[in-house]
Amino acid sequence: MSLRLVALNIILAGCLFFCAAASVSALDPETAYQQAKGRYLSLQSSSKKQLYRENWLDVIEGFVGVAQAWPRHRRAPDALYMAGKTARGLYQVSHLRDDADMALRYFNRIVIEYPKDNLADDALFQAGETLQKDLKDIVGAYRSFARIVRDYPGGDMFPLAKPRLSALAKKVPSEARSMQQSGTDAILQNIRQWSDGERTRIVLDFNREVDYETHALSGTDRDGPKIFFDIQKTAPGAELATPVLFDQGLVERVRVGHPVPTTLRVVLDLRRSVHQRVFSLKEPFRIVADLTPAAGGDAPADPAPPQAPSSNDELAQILEQHTELPGVTLNIPEKNPRKGLKRIVVDAGHGGKDPGAIGPRGTREKDVTLAMAKKLARHLRAALGCEVILTRDRDIYLPLEERTAIANRLNADLFISVHANASRNRKAYGIETYYLNFSKNKAAVEVAARENNTSLEEVGDLELILLDLMANAKINESSRLAAEVQGALVGKLKRKFSRVRNLGVRPGPFYVLLGATMPSILVETAFISNPTEEKRLKSAAYQDQAARAIAEGVRRYARALDLIASNR
Ligand SMILES: [Zn+2]
Repeated sequence: MSLRLVALNIILAGCLFFCAAASVSALDPETAYQQAKGRYLSLQSSSKKQLYRENWLDVIEGFVGVAQAWPRHRRAPDALYMAGKTARGLYQVSHLRDDADMALRYFNRIVIEYPKDNLADDALFQAGETLQKDLKDIVGAYRSFARIVRDYPGGDMFPLAKPRLSALAKKVPSEARSMQQSGTDAILQNIRQWSDGERTRIVLDFNREVDYETHALSGTDRDGPKIFFDIQKTAPGAELATPVLFDQGLVERVRVGHPVPTTLRVVLDLRRSVHQRVFSLKEPFRIVADLTPAAGGDAPADPAPPQAPSSNDELAQILEQHTELPGVTLNIPEKNPRKGLKRIVVDAGHGGKDPGAIGPRGTREKDVTLAMAKKLARHLRAALGCEVILTRDRDIYLPLEERTAIANRLNADLFISVHANASRNRKAYGIETYYLNFSKNKAAVEVAARENNTSLEEVGDLELILLDLMANAKINESSRLAAEVQGALVGKLKRKFSRVRNLGVRPGPFYVLLGATMPSILVETAFISNPTEEKRLKSAAYQDQAARAIAEGVRRYARALDLIASNR
């Protein structure tokens, strides 16, 4: 359920004119399209109407509504193209960067969603024009025209794009061109967001590791605050429609540009001043920015930077005004303490394309963890009477950072990640429970490396960023919760099963616990690599006993902290 909500939010954030789609769907697509076209022609012929922004937006809404309501109809790409052209017309009047961005967004959508349509190369050409003339992004423009020449050599835009490409080639340095052609650029593949109204997490996904710098700008009269990343030797992926708009959270919009040809700049336009924690994760490489509102309301924390000489190129101005961040920010306001244990997020480890560890008889960790997590949710509801949410309730892939983001967004009181252990030594067996912290223990670091899907060296890198994140982690509560759960697991299972071994509670550097703002633990319920324990993990009886025991551990933890009424 929670996952569907997350997905819905992302879809809603992507649909600027979602409501318009609902209002036109009473008509048929052709009529709706012709109505929008009629309003477009009427706007074109009246210079008086063109003075009012709402008239432009009205036409754009009409066209976008057609594409939203009937995405498979032949008019859909047509309507997006007209929406883009109208937005560009609006830009000629308003000179607002947002309007040029809006045009770019619709043109890019055609290329991504309807690459085989007759209008795809026209949309690329319009995107190139918008980038070159309106946004002064010659590298972006070069790439648009280059794509027409490469991908649409038989199209009607080819003879127009070719001379533009030759002219731009003189201005775009060869390294920017040759990299693009030889494909050695890293690719920014996706931009993702989670928000709970208070905190926002932005994740940039790449196809490989990149070098990047983080910069922040406080707001000015003219312009809101922003954070931007300058990323070396990277290009936006062909599947990425930018700018990306978010209708909730601290980030209003994410857009890309090229301050210099070999650098991709990703700009987060913020709704207000924030504190940011930025770190990177590997396999696959991604940059994660966790944002919380800055103290002191919307007023910029620092005096506005000196104005750069006036120029049409806003990104060039940002470059001149930028200030390096002074290290990491630890000043994160504490959450208001809440009485009681109201909501628990249970995370079934792995899933989808990530099977987790695989036992000697082929049992997959992801199946065991899902079955156990579902049972745990039931027992927690029964034992504590609180709300329990699963990060996944079926066999789907979830990136590690999304799991704590769900818990943070739901303002959960506890986060419990369920796993099964594995070792190259098939004789290894037992139960252990982890919480997030530094670890000097080699075995703990090995378990973390496996669960993180990284090398041991990369776990070392992770420990460096832990230093920053520790400020917000509930270490004491987490270790206490881990101790109660581990104690209950061993005690309860020993009564029903032979050779139950207590491997204890350990700190460890686990990605999946990173960034959680509530007490959080990772339970290794048995060794799937051990033939006896693999059989147990597969059995409903062991799964049920382990789930009961974890719920009992949580109940003891809550009672010790007086989080629930003692008679429950
Ligand atoms: Zn696992």
